[in-house]
Amino acid sequence: MPLDLAFSIEANDFVDPDRAYDLYWSRVITSKKAFICPGADCSAQVTCANLDKDVQNMKVVPHFRVIGAHSEGCGIPEEAPFKEVIEPAAPESRERQTV
Ligand SMILES: [Zn+2]
Repeated sequence: MPLDLAFSIEANDFVDPDRAYDLYWSRVITSKKAFICPGADCSAQVTCANLDKDVQNMKVVPHFRVIGAHSEGCGIPEEAPFKEVIEPAAPESRERQTV
């Protein structure tokens, strides 16, 4: 089951695979396995595949893979696209709304 988002223990934030990749190469994230399921009260371990691959040599883009078992209260439905469940505050939206 692919995840669009995971909680990075090292960055202490929710990240998508692209951001995880950036953070890995910025040395904020040092372990591919230091992620957990973004679901509420769930600590299923998540790994980010291809995080350490150079983008030139990459056949598959970085993506999250759940290793552990989800907790019973985990709100992540199987197969459902996670982006539609929770929209995190977009860190990219830097432009300010001036009226
Ligand atoms: Zn979970």
